[in-house]
Amino acid sequence: MNISEEKKFKDITTFRVGGKIKYFIEVKDEEGVAEAIHFAKKNSLPIFMVGEGSDFLAEDNMYEGVVIKYLGDSLEFTPEGSKVLVTAESGLKWDKLVEETVKNELQGLECLSGIPGTVGGAPIQNIGAYGQEISDTFYSLKAYDIENEKYKSFSKDECEFGYRDSIFKNEKFWQKYFILQITLVLNKNKIAKVNYDSLKAIVGEEAELSEIRQAVLKTRQDKLEDPKKVGNAGSFFKNPIVDVQKKENLEKMFPGIKTFPYGDKFKVSAAWLIEMAGWKGKGFGEAAVSPKHSLILINKTGSAPANDIYTLSEMIVNDVFEKYGIKLEKEVQLINFSK
Ligand SMILES: Cc1cc2nc3c(=O)[nH]c(=O)nc-3n(C[C@H](O)[C@H](O)[C@H](O)COP(=O)(O)OP(=O)(O)OC[C@H]3O[C@@H](n4cnc5c(N)ncnc54)[C@H](O)[C@@H]3O)c2cc1C
Repeated sequence: MNISEEKKFKDITTFRVGGKIKYFIEVKDEEGVAEAIHFAKKNSLPIFMVGEGSDFLAEDNMYEGVVIKYLGDSLEFTPEGSKVLVTAESGLKWDKLVEETVKNELQGLECLSGIPGTVGGAPIQNIGAYGQEISDTFYSLKAYDIENEKYKSFSKDECEFGYRDSIFKNEKFWQKYFILQITLVLNKNKIAKVNYDSLKAIVGEEAELSEIRQAVLKTRQDKLEDPKKVGNAGSFFKNPIVDVQKKENLEKMFPGIKTFPYGDKFKVSAAWLIEMAGWKGKGFGEAAVSPKHSLILINKTGSAPANDIYTLSEMIVNDVFEKYGIKLEKEVQLINFSK
């Protein structure tokens, strides 16, 4: 167990924002997790679990608690007929997992190429991109139950996955289970059908997994902000989900509004709403809406206070609501905020 009293959230997040952390602990194995949790409980301190810090915004105030990061990153393939069970420890980088599965001609994660973060962070918001979500191939996960100090398995159903959502985001289960490893079930297949229109336009209806991966990586590089160059946490807002009736009403009221099918419902493009409301490239203080993609809020100066980003996000939510009657929901989680 490696304990540091020197870390700040700005050192461990892709937004590069956030204040001092009382205790930051890195652990290598399951025993280390139990030990770190015991340390926090003995000192009556709250626990926050962290991966690559690519999906939250932390306040600038001191976090009076223990932040725990798991470094175990093993990866195992177990053939099961025409499928392969893929088990990865939560400290493994998500894109390393995708790279290895594509290399081994295992279909199911290719469209999720290039998403920052760790394996442990991926189920929390049911990561998704280009028509795929982790829930499509999810089998189970193993976690450490912090309250009862014992191991617990979750099946796919028990994770209650939704659009950028899972049971672990529910207030009752928030920061209660430390994810140690996940198991996915992938198809032995070198070729995949492509369901996402913009991807189809590049690789066609069907393509080799490696081609799909390369197309996704290139598109992401062109369209998104690189956290190595400018602090951000990807999409700040979720795309609102509406039924067919609401979609048709919106199309009548706002011709040109962009929507995409999502199961038997529709996603309204939050990027379109924000852009049409005039926010693309605009800012507040040291925060701004990315000039490349209006769903992304950026730490423009590299030293933006958390409050500038938060205030900008609230200004956008209020303005979009006034103009379109749609309340945008945040995808990025707020940590240590008193609001
Ligand atoms: C440039 C950019 C592009 C992105 N693109 C996408 C995209 O296309 N699709 C998408 O869905 N997301 C995207 N994201 C968001 C982000 O990459 C994912 O949500 C990612 O899965 C977060 O993983 P992480 O390890 O960084 O988690 P963190 O940000 O560290 O944590 C996120 C949440 O997971 C919890 N957590 C982390 N590890 C564990 C663990 N071991 N056990 C229990 N809880 C844990 C944390 O407590 C927190 O609640 C993007 C982000 C960036 C910066």
